[in-house]
Amino acid sequence: MSEIELLMNEHIRNLTPYSSARDDFKGKADIYLDANESWYDGVERANRYPDPEAVLLRRKLQEVLCLPFEKTVIGNGSDEIIDLLIRIFCASGKDSIMIERPTYGAYKVFADINNVQTINVCLKEDFSLDIDKMISTIKERKPKIVFICSPNNPTGNVFPLSEIETIAKENDGITVIDEAYSDFEPEFKSAISLIDEYPRVCVLKTLSKAWAIAGARVGILVANKEIRDTISKVKPPYNVSATSQRVAIEALDDNLEIKKVRDEIIEQRELLEKKIASLPYVKEVIPTNTNFILIRVDDADRLYYYLMKKGIIVRNRTHEPLLAGVLRITVGSERENKSLMEALNGYKP
Ligand SMILES: *Cc1c(COP(=O)(O)O)cnc(C)c1O
Repeated sequence: MSEIELLMNEHIRNLTPYSSARDDFKGKADIYLDANESWYDGVERANRYPDPEAVLLRRKLQEVLCLPFEKTVIGNGSDEIIDLLIRIFCASGKDSIMIERPTYGAYKVFADINNVQTINVCLKEDFSLDIDKMISTIKERKPKIVFICSPNNPTGNVFPLSEIETIAKENDGITVIDEAYSDFEPEFKSAISLIDEYPRVCVLKTLSKAWAIAGARVGILVANKEIRDTISKVKPPYNVSATSQRVAIEALDDNLEIKKVRDEIIEQRELLEKKIASLPYVKEVIPTNTNFILIRVDDADRLYYYLMKKGIIVRNRTHEPLLAGVLRITVGSERENKSLMEALNGYKP
């Protein structure tokens, strides 16, 4: 048995996957009468079941983002892949995952849903990884999966690849690097480069943020073939709709326009950071490598409700560790950011 098979739940290792019509016959034909689909394609050409392996989309991801075709699998958002990884590797009622805090809330929720324990290791005051604490916790508690979000949501910072490599080296379980915001950092070094040397490293990407198609639900796992194939076996066969696969290909084809928008967002972020930092009641603007900014004030709840009354909704992170007084604000369009600034300028603390 391989090292990765040993890490998996036994019932997953032994699973006979569902065989869809598109698995039973993979060739090209003139007439498909095998899946009980309708012949009528007048509604958004949605009459046919989607390709379970999303081959055209994965080829496009290789062409545009250099994500190696044989290492990718597509999820209904990266959220679906987080859930699948936990279901594949963690035994309900027995195993655990490890996360840093504060971080993206979904890891713990999916662990809870699967009756899997979550071990928290707090970031240091400066939002860096507490490597020593992480390693000692890994050795002691042996979590099946370690999630590292880089750039981290909600602290907005990138963790150095060398530190991520140290964790991958020390962790006998799976190490997942969630790179949802990586496109906003021009100098970003992806953990994909670690996969060949550390086969238990998985990388999550999404088209929801910089690629502007959150509504289509397209997340990508990049991993070694064995993990990739297992996800493919366990996921619902038609997990990403045909419409979503087409929309994703369209977005990737439109990559010049999307890069322009992304660059504009980064420019707007820098502008907002400067303007907000000069407001007398703002104690700190925390720099990020993402499409959101973090501001620290004395009374985050009060500012949050003030903005809400003005029709502007931001995310209140004041109750997260290390983030007392912090609001997370997504960088919007120029018009939206102007309205935000007008509201902030009118705030009397
Ligand atoms: C937004 C976000 C996701 C969710 O991505 P989907 O592909 O839309 O499911 C994953 N991870 C982090 C850290 C995020 O902030």
